[in-house]
Amino acid sequence: MNDFEAGRPVVLRGGTVLPMSPSGSRRVLPRTDVLVTGDRIAAVGPELEAPEDAVVIDASGGLVMPGMIDTHRHMWQTALRGYGADWTLTQYFVWFYLEHGKLFRPEDIHAGNTLAAIEALDAGVTTVVDWSHGLRTVDHADAAADALESVPGRYVLAYGNIQQPPAEWTAAPEFRDFVRRRVTGGDMLGFQIAFDVLGDPSFPERPAFEVARELGAAVTTHAGVWGATSDDGIRLMHEHGFMTPETIYVHAASLSADSYHRIAATGGSISVSTESEQSAGQGYPPTWAVRAHGIPVSLSMDTSVWWSGDLFSAMRATLGADRSREHLEAHAKGETVTHCGLRADQVVEWATRGGARALGRDDLGAVEPGRKADLVLVKNEHSPVSFPILNPFGHVAFQAQRGDVHTVIVNGRVVKHEHRLLGVDLAGARAHVERTVEHLRSTMGDAAWEKGMNPDIPSAKVLDNPYTYTDYRSDATHRL
Ligand SMILES: [Zn+2]
Repeated sequence: MNDFEAGRPVVLRGGTVLPMSPSGSRRVLPRTDVLVTGDRIAAVGPELEAPEDAVVIDASGGLVMPGMIDTHRHMWQTALRGYGADWTLTQYFVWFYLEHGKLFRPEDIHAGNTLAAIEALDAGVTTVVDWSHGLRTVDHADAAADALESVPGRYVLAYGNIQQPPAEWTAAPEFRDFVRRRVTGGDMLGFQIAFDVLGDPSFPERPAFEVARELGAAVTTHAGVWGATSDDGIRLMHEHGFMTPETIYVHAASLSADSYHRIAATGGSISVSTESEQSAGQGYPPTWAVRAHGIPVSLSMDTSVWWSGDLFSAMRATLGADRSREHLEAHAKGETVTHCGLRADQVVEWATRGGARALGRDDLGAVEPGRKADLVLVKNEHSPVSFPILNPFGHVAFQAQRGDVHTVIVNGRVVKHEHRLLGVDLAGARAHVERTVEHLRSTMGDAAWEKGMNPDIPSAKVLDNPYTYTDYRSDATHRL
């Protein structure tokens, strides 16, 4: 069907390469080629010799960077894209946890996951942790895994179930059976266990941690979420010895310095979802605080029920929130920030290498020979925003957007080229999602559906203004 099917070598010619190598993330390589053979980056350098059968992609005028990595996305919820735009976290909990989450059938999980996976690839997000907490039966879990295996990206299924305590569902024989059947240690579909630690002093989550340890699976947990999880959960995990380097703490937005010390000391990482924290209410996006603790950071989008499923938005929002807080903290002391602490190259690093580090995947997140060929070419000849590229990191963080993703390569395979996805059934995904929306809407009823999407607006009075003229008309008339 196209030039890219046969596993031919690929060479990206003449782009500006952002290697994001651990040895120096600010490095930029102008007019550089990247050669891909098999599933690996074979060479990076100027005017490379490529095998005769290599497909040539003209990367001139564009930026070649590692595929981006999202460490926390509830992919099943993408079937309801944008539905919760005006929600708070409380409304989200009521809708999904208490009222309607149980309406999702396995085919609905499949529909959401498939669309989310396609959406991620399109935006240059080549690895996504599917924080899949709608798996109330193993049939749901099989549907989630089937969907992820049907789209040519790299995924980590973080298995969760909000309808049962984690100690229960992780102890179920069918869960063990799922792990035996589906967790094969393959390169394209990883596995984690996803649950939250609610701070009960008896630490009822302990058996779930023990299962994770026995299975060799990392735990990912929503930590520091205002009104839900707090310092108590972190302290309990620490005291019971379950804070480990592979643990991912999502949000970590309302924690004290004591919790950050515990995370830093045990080597875990924080997944920051700035757009989410800014509008749902978990707490202030925490990069401004965690930077001081030296805790590794990765970025995530959380859920397309509210937010955009691309990491350009995440980078932009994170820079803004961090700098905004730095200015505010200074102003509160009567001081002025003259130099930004957080730089554009740092958020690009968090969106790429930071995710690789969080997932223990040293073979991802950098454009270097020997690493896996997960690559993104940002280039858009039809866009007035595509030039001049004077500051490549600033361009990625503040200028580029998903429409500028020209080419995406995952595991050596070209999955998007000249702004078009290859080998992806978008029409099929659309039909599935339409069936899911119809199922949810008809089961809930139109009134509940509309009410869920349009929460009440708190009444707010416009303040009296002491500078308003009250009689200028009559004054003017009198003078006439
Ligand atoms: Zn989340």
